[in-house]
Amino acid sequence: MNQGQAVAPQGAGKILPLFSSLPPLALYIHIPWCIRKCPYCDFYSNRLTGELDEDGYIAVLKRDIEEALPLVWGRPIISVFIGGGTPSLFSAEGIGKLLKMVHSSLPIQPNAEISMEANPGTFETEKFKAYRDVGINRLSIGVQSFNPEHLKVLGRIHGREEALAAAKVARACFDQVNLDLMLGLPGQTLAQFQEDVKTAVSLDPTHLSLYQLTIEPNTPFAAHPPALPDEDVVDEMQSWMEKMLPEMGYQHYEVSAWAKPGCQCRHNSNYWLYGDYLGVGAAAHSKLTFSDGRIVRRMCVRNPDAYMKGDDRGRTPFEETFEVSVKDRRFEFMMNALRFINGFPTRLFEERTGLPLASISDPLQQAESKGLLKVSPATICPTSLGMRFLNDLQEIFLPD
Ligand code: SF4
Repeated sequence: MNQGQAVAPQGAGKILPLFSSLPPLALYIHIPWCIRKCPYCDFYSNRLTGELDEDGYIAVLKRDIEEALPLVWGRPIISVFIGGGTPSLFSAEGIGKLLKMVHSSLPIQPNAEISMEANPGTFETEKFKAYRDVGINRLSIGVQSFNPEHLKVLGRIHGREEALAAAKVARACFDQVNLDLMLGLPGQTLAQFQEDVKTAVSLDPTHLSLYQLTIEPNTPFAAHPPALPDEDVVDEMQSWMEKMLPEMGYQHYEVSAWAKPGCQCRHNSNYWLYGDYLGVGAAAHSKLTFSDGRIVRRMCVRNPDAYMKGDDRGRTPFEETFEVSVKDRRFEFMMNALRFINGFPTRLFEERTGLPLASISDPLQQAESKGLLKVSPATICPTSLGMRFLNDLQEIFLPD
């Protein structure tokens, strides 16, 4: 039976689909502190003042995981990602305790990808080997640029030499290393961007994340916008990396992600393929699918003190919890899965949303007729025009 057509009554007149199998489940752990706030950043993080209470924070993460156990009972965890904020503010001993707690609370798959984000400061780099020894198997370093001027404008606390040293030490300690780089930086020329990418590649990371700098609302950059390169220059940067990175051994597999063969990020791929994730920590998001047809999203409260204190009964405090409506899940799925350069298996739409493919036949046809998408029984894949105008393609799937 087509699972997308299976329905179960849910309360007064509400009909929702059933899931015959649940998507893969990942664990995200948010560490909400940074040394200081970068002016472009809209991730949720607080400036760290005073001592970091590692044991106290691990205890509340344990509380969150234990409270969530009935929601994910028996489901193996395919990947763990410790993100932030700046997780490398934690000592290696603290990360070790955290992973021990996670392993004793949840069934982590034996070969799970266990990633952690790190800043490239000297203080952090000295801990890389110890992070590996306590169980981290993939390190993601927020380099952003190797150009001293650009690092300064971005308000980063590391310099070029620290970035180089961090990437070298990381590669010596880990089989899987990602470097984050940004393009379209204030005053950046094509030659400067090329220099950044070539420097990154010379350090032999297994994965590169290349994001265009965008000015996000409610950031210092939004209040005082720096002069960014013209769109033409940014287009040239994009075209250059699309031509050169494959020649340097990196496959473009997602809008902003490039990897050596076999080194795609499993955790992020699960997000993009509308998999499930349990998020713990201040401001962490979760998306969980239930066999009765519900997909639930929730977010822990943002403020670390309020999060650690808990609600009036000492339980995990949530800022919001809601069920994803049928019309929203179509858009959510397509918005994420269309980010893959080689598209996604057609059957995945029904498996992950619980809806029949026929429910998006009109927008699929519209996207195909505009030359933005190729649809076959096996795969749905954006064309190169579709990738170039990805926002337009995604918008076709917006609910009416
Ligand atoms: S270190 Fe990262 S998370 Fe922290 S403020 Fe800077 S960009 Fe944001």
